[in-house]
Amino acid sequence: MGKKRIGIIGGGISGTCLGYHLSLYDNAEVVVFEKDTIGGASTAKSAGTVCLFDDSLKNRYWDVRLYGFESYLKMEAEEKGSAGFDKTGTLVVATDKKVEATIKTGIALAKAAGYSGEYITDKGRIKEILPDIATDNILGAGYTQEDGYFDGTMISNTYAKKMQKNGGAIKTGVKVTDVKVVDNKATGLTTSEGEDYEFDVIVDCTGPWSKFTGEMVGMDIPIWHTKAEAFFLCPPGKKLDYTFPVLKYPAFYGLRAGDNIFICKSHLSMDLNNPMHAGQWDPDKLPATGGTDDYFIDFLLDQLEMRVPGIVDSGLVSSWLSYRAEPKDFLPILGKTPVEGYMLATGYGGNGVIEAPAASRDLAKLIMRDEMTPLLEDWEFNRLLK
Ligand SMILES: Cc1cc2nc3c(=O)[nH]c(=O)nc-3n(C[C@H](O)[C@H](O)[C@H](O)COP(=O)(O)OP(=O)(O)OC[C@H]3O[C@@H](n4cnc5c(N)ncnc54)[C@H](O)[C@@H]3O)c2cc1C
Repeated sequence: MGKKRIGIIGGGISGTCLGYHLSLYDNAEVVVFEKDTIGGASTAKSAGTVCLFDDSLKNRYWDVRLYGFESYLKMEAEEKGSAGFDKTGTLVVATDKKVEATIKTGIALAKAAGYSGEYITDKGRIKEILPDIATDNILGAGYTQEDGYFDGTMISNTYAKKMQKNGGAIKTGVKVTDVKVVDNKATGLTTSEGEDYEFDVIVDCTGPWSKFTGEMVGMDIPIWHTKAEAFFLCPPGKKLDYTFPVLKYPAFYGLRAGDNIFICKSHLSMDLNNPMHAGQWDPDKLPATGGTDDYFIDFLLDQLEMRVPGIVDSGLVSSWLSYRAEPKDFLPILGKTPVEGYMLATGYGGNGVIEAPAASRDLAKLIMRDEMTPLLEDWEFNRLLK
């Protein structure tokens, strides 16, 4: 049987992770096209938190979270630093009964998988973990010690390397400029180098760009860009003398970044109808640093004053703006589209690092064996047409 030729557009975590999972099949011939550098776009600006529990992804997708976490742990164990793991642990704060219930389920799932985890109501114990936290007006906090955050760019490059080892090809600095469609079937693509390629399947993994790349096949891909404004704070006149865990509240999250603290508004608190939060913009116009709005830092400083007063006098070291690609229901779009042979692995929004391994595993199964999985059914393109 001949090989199946697959062209992937985009070399972020979505494209490289899919390329790697496809390269595990003997009869897959994979080429990834990246117009810039591997893992250099939204993936590079990510916080990279992959926690054993939190509210960023519903507990019903626990297996997605666990597969992501364990894939990166395995990567890190194979070669230290290849997934950029920083094991800080995670503290998710229960601000009300609903959040508390989510945390308790998450902790139970983590424990059932063999990890340690606890739901803590003793405020003194919470302060031992995070001395700068305010414990008034909270019910408790969930805590896991074995997780933390990863480096999306390192992971993308590691997947790219592993894929090449398995025979896959990567073309960096090469932009896909056109996709050839014949009788509603995608048959190949053209690049900025003027070369034409023929493929059996083309997968659009361009994240925030898919709004524009989709137009090459006449599709209007229903994603919005939410502003991911990240700020780096230097704690007041000191280095942190404790391990700052990944800290999650419903409205924002924080984590350590070297000697600084990274803070960002959580993606699920973004309102797609609020032009301050979301819109449809050109990701090529984003500056490398800065570009942030006063609204977000004011909002985050108010949150810190209320929630983590010990670090509120921190200096602002740097900031950046990136776009998260979000469909209306904040879940990815995976698999077949109305254009035969043109598939999507986009719309990962604020969870791409967590979700890419499980999503890629299942999408590779669909591409290579024409097999659907419950995850692919949940995240298929058609759901957005209903
Ligand atoms: C501030 C911030 C914090 C985040 N925190 C987390 C977190 O804690 N945990 C988590 O799981 N997720 C987090 N995310 C989300 C996660 O980073 C994204 O979901 C993920 O990186 C998206 O990856 P991607 O490959 O889809 O997109 P990208 O990384 O943007 O990759 C798309 C690639 O496509 C390329 N491309 C576009 N058009 C073309 C073309 N025509 N030809 C060739 N190449 C093209 C681009 O150059 C780019 O490299 C965060 C995101 C941000 C911005």
